[in-house]
Amino acid sequence: MSSFESFGLNRRVLQAIHDMGFEEPSPIQAACIPVVLEGRDVIGQAQTGTGKTAAFGIPLVERVSTEPRVQAIVLTPTRELAIQVAGEIRKIAKYKRVRSVPIYGGQSIVHQIRALKQGVQIVIGTPGRVLDHIHRGTLSLSDVRMVVLDEADEMLDMGFIDDIEAILRETPSDRQTMLFSATFPNEVKRLALRYMRDPQHITVNRGEVTVPQIDQVCYKVLERNKLDSLCRIVDSEDIQLGIIFCRTKRGVDDLVEALLARGYLADGLHGDLSQAQRDRVMRKFRKNEIELLVATDVAARGLDVDDVTHVINYDVPQDPESYVHRIGRTGRAGKRGLAITLVTPREYKLLKQIEREIKQKITVREVPSLEDVAER
Ligand code: ADP
Ligand code: MG
Repeated sequence: MSSFESFGLNRRVLQAIHDMGFEEPSPIQAACIPVVLEGRDVIGQAQTGTGKTAAFGIPLVERVSTEPRVQAIVLTPTRELAIQVAGEIRKIAKYKRVRSVPIYGGQSIVHQIRALKQGVQIVIGTPGRVLDHIHRGTLSLSDVRMVVLDEADEMLDMGFIDDIEAILRETPSDRQTMLFSATFPNEVKRLALRYMRDPQHITVNRGEVTVPQIDQVCYKVLERNKLDSLCRIVDSEDIQLGIIFCRTKRGVDDLVEALLARGYLADGLHGDLSQAQRDRVMRKFRKNEIELLVATDVAARGLDVDDVTHVINYDVPQDPESYVHRIGRTGRAGKRGLAITLVTPREYKLLKQIEREIKQKITVREVPSLEDVAER
């Protein structure tokens, strides 16, 4: 068994980890931290909610010097995740004179330029905005020694790959490159080798894609009474905090409206909202002022909100990776959670494909009757 002390970390970093309430390293942290500290490239794979952020965040903070140059950059697929990762890195750097700043679209660029001018060592950003700063000359990556792609399989997917390549070209070729995710399809692993030097593959999940603390069930429903079925399921569950995933932005808006009309405390999150709205919704959700967050896959990756007890797939996700990440918003850091998927006849095939990929059977449940719900 390893301890944080055994990694030879600076006492300021150790003190910060202690303040965060981390008693011992999680398996991915125990396996990755020493390797990252050595300077090696790493492909780190561990299930959702098992502490991958600190697995790279701790050695990043440890290894940057206090000189005011950008020495490390972390790239994330969404703005919310950039904000969250920056928050965790800031906690780790609490006692070290190291500044970190999140750089993402939708926030005032002037504000970010001012922050960058103050001498930042670690940048956490979304690809589009990072490139924007590079083109404006307000961010230089020529002194970067460490690059992290969080949710790496998503970052190397079609939507982001061109931006990622453009950003990597701005960094020195002898940089250290680290990739983290819960899912690494084989083609992504192969592709990743183009950007890495002799990476160490670190996998701690022994073939399991999802954590055992998440119970997974599905309900067979009909398209025309999907909303009623959802409401009955919600009423029959003891939901502290739930996330409901829909396939489209329009679907999110419609469902929020329908849920509000029926008296649920719901709000929506998707990419067409202004950043101010997105921030407000996330703040309310983190403070438990919303009971049900209805979202597109923009919330599927990386978000860590305490005590999310339920994840509900109102639409079956299009690919198995999306399923794994969506349900991974619950059951984090050893807590239990329930993942519920509503399946219409058209979607059986998708569900079967997911079961094959995660090598698990998803238990089928009957939608509670009105009487069942009334009895509660
Ligand atoms: P992942 O990126 O693997 O999905 P996160 O890095 O978001 O997971 O961590 C999930 C939760 O676990 C966070 O709330 C984080 O603060 C907590 N956590 C991480 N490492 C530890 C640890 N060593 N001990 C206790 N809690 C931890
Ligand atoms: Mg993560």
